[in-house]
Amino acid sequence: MSHPLSAEEIEIQAKARAIVDELIPYEVEAEMNGGRLPDDARERAEKLIREAGFEAINMPKDLGGGGFTSLQQVLVQEQVGRATNALAWLIHTPASWLPHVATDVQMERWVLPTIRGELRECYAITEEGAGSDVDSIQATARREGEEYVLNGVKWHVTSFNHSEYVFFQAKLTEGPHAGEHAMFVMDVDTPGIRVVRVPEYSHTIDHHHAILAFEDVRVPATHRIGDEGDGMHFAYEWFRYERLMIAARCCGAMDRLVTEATAFAKDRIVGGEPLVERQAIQFMLADSLSELWASRLMTYRTAREIDEGVDVKIQHAHCSIAKLFVSEAAGRVADRCVQIFGGRGYMRENVAERFFRELRVERIWEGTSEIQRIIIADQLAKRGVEALAGNGE
Ligand SMILES: Cc1cc2nc3c(=O)[nH]c(=O)nc-3n(C[C@H](O)[C@H](O)[C@H](O)COP(=O)(O)OP(=O)(O)OC[C@H]3O[C@@H](n4cnc5c(N)ncnc54)[C@H](O)[C@@H]3O)c2cc1C
Repeated sequence: MSHPLSAEEIEIQAKARAIVDELIPYEVEAEMNGGRLPDDARERAEKLIREAGFEAINMPKDLGGGGFTSLQQVLVQEQVGRATNALAWLIHTPASWLPHVATDVQMERWVLPTIRGELRECYAITEEGAGSDVDSIQATARREGEEYVLNGVKWHVTSFNHSEYVFFQAKLTEGPHAGEHAMFVMDVDTPGIRVVRVPEYSHTIDHHHAILAFEDVRVPATHRIGDEGDGMHFAYEWFRYERLMIAARCCGAMDRLVTEATAFAKDRIVGGEPLVERQAIQFMLADSLSELWASRLMTYRTAREIDEGVDVKIQHAHCSIAKLFVSEAAGRVADRCVQIFGGRGYMRENVAERFFRELRVERIWEGTSEIQRIIIADQLAKRGVEALAGNGE
């Protein structure tokens, strides 16, 4: 066992695993079909997710969410990561930062229906010339009386095709906070929102990444989230959350890859011997298992310390470390597993081939590896080795 788990945590892990095991047989069909699940499989999985209480597991219980601890969420997301083609994204986690800043109107219109599983959201933040350096965004928000007029072109808006509302970040053009950022929420069918195009990406998933134009989109001031000048500042908690959950999903992917590659290596006979007897293959499997073990320990430990309430700056650094290390380890594991499968590993019907493409983005989104290194080095300079990698005293 990588980490001692309570009976309740083991039960949650087993329930999540059972749901994902139902989805895995549909991977190849989805791969050949734009990432789409057959309707009956989707409906069945959605029913299992509801029955398991896995809707909005990251939202507070008093709002109708699951109120899961960080470690419980990691256990679920690790299983989500075992399926390719994002099939297990059916286990949806809404914006957990939103209830802290949402007005009563926003709670009724967006937050509560999302927790009930009726609505889904997407994020329009990145632009052609602004990703890592989000401060360079060109999108604008101009105040006109009780409304804002929004303009800008946003890239990579994930899940736009499955969303009812969108978060939009822009710079204010005037007033005391001119030049600063503000965040807005609006329904995706608000007049002035236009799909410019829907590019193809390396992975085959049913969540598209649209390029969206916001052209003189008028929203009431009640659609602003937080205050003028806040931008995404209130969402740092979300970055920590998403980075840790990326690490969790990558652990699941690595687990699946090592399991499948080991089974193949035992089965495949070369020169009269199973492949697994060949030292070159053993080394690749040994390195992969070692990286899985290290990744899982790091991810579980980081989740546990969030639940224990350690200093938030330390949490922030550790989530970056987990995202950096585990996403890069997962890339190495996928590469080795393609090699172990040989020619089969280059076929889209092979799990290693799909993960080889799909895991690449884990080093890019929610802050690239380079950005994580900048965060980690900054924390190291400020706090020192003992605070970040010592015994926590
Ligand atoms: C599949 C996918 C889905 C996405 N979904 C969304 C979404 O839903 N909503 C959304 O708003 N965005 C989304 N993104 C955008 C994503 O967050 C950005 O792509 C990411 O933050 C990197 O920004 P960029 O693409 O502009 O790269 P750039 O910022 O242009 O970076 C290019 C390279 O330069 C490096 N670099 C940048 N700055 C530095 C620095 N200071 N020092 C050293 N190296 C640096 C980067 O690490 C990278 O290697 C998505 C992206 C992808 C690929």
